[in-house]
Amino acid sequence: IAQQQRAFLEQPGRTADGIRMEVAANIAHSVEAAPAFANGAEGIGLFRTEMLYMDRAHAPAEDELYNIYCQALESADGRSIIVRTMDIGGDKPVEYLNIPAENNPFLGYRAVRIYQEFLTLFHTQLRSILRASAHGSLKIMIPMISSMEEILWVKDQLAEVKQKLRAEQIPFDEKIPLGIMLEVPSVMFIIDQCCEEIDFFSIGSNDLTQYLLAVDRDNAKVTKHYNSLNPAFLRALDHAVREVHRHGKWIGLCGELGAKGSVLPLLVGMGLDEISMSAPSVPATKARLAQLDSRECRLLLNKAMACRTSLEVEHLLAQFRLSRQ
Ligand code: PEP
Ligand code: MG
Repeated sequence: IAQQQRAFLEQPGRTADGIRMEVAANIAHSVEAAPAFANGAEGIGLFRTEMLYMDRAHAPAEDELYNIYCQALESADGRSIIVRTMDIGGDKPVEYLNIPAENNPFLGYRAVRIYQEFLTLFHTQLRSILRASAHGSLKIMIPMISSMEEILWVKDQLAEVKQKLRAEQIPFDEKIPLGIMLEVPSVMFIIDQCCEEIDFFSIGSNDLTQYLLAVDRDNAKVTKHYNSLNPAFLRALDHAVREVHRHGKWIGLCGELGAKGSVLPLLVGMGLDEISMSAPSVPATKARLAQLDSRECRLLLNKAMACRTSLEVEHLLAQFRLSRQ
């Protein structure tokens, strides 16, 4: 960690004019939590749990998952961890589930869409998260939500699992927050309704970019179209943050976009509550944040959203950077 970034390790993410934006880390296993916090992460904004299910012969048992979440909480020491339930299927195959290969895995049978068929697996994960929630600040986040039906279904499942735990007198956090990934464009048009049912959102900019622009994130032929600086994409994000805040809820961002230094002023301009990224990017992000003025960022964002091409946005960001050196 660079000398000039060390000063920010213990400090919360804040702009020069004192606007808070939490800087959190993404992890894929509990052992990554301690190094993330050592890097100054204020929380875990995305615990990708699919790794826990992959490259093995059977699904992990409830106690194994429980221990893993508890281990992460121990490193967190009071800070919060957003556990995303398994985002498997599609392009993340898990042998023992025997899901047939698909031509179009990103539009296929993955994430929340497989939970109904593999209900025991989903309930086991919810149970292990709930049990661990007795020992720290855990939040549950559901991937690939695209409709209200799915939210209501998930809430029913969560209620059922909680009821069983109560009947068994197993303690858990009764108020554990429930959130969704905002990564399927349809959700952006029902944010008002979602806000009546869930506590928070996290923008999955990797998937949201591919779904909004209809560009496969893994297809080299179309990478030039996969551009999160597309003004349409920026407008979409700005709309989402405004809508969520208008309804008094919390919204973060946990895709790769959060770690791009040049884009940070735009994310500040939107007023996101948190950005979560790979742990090594946390120190530089906090240091950059401390140099930004939120009002200037908002003006920059307005200019970016008025641009007609991604290239214009890129030039605007380059100019902004130069003007501050
Ligand atoms: C995303 O889609 O931006 C995201 C954070 O989830 P993943 O990369 O795991 O799909
Ligand atoms: Mg995603």
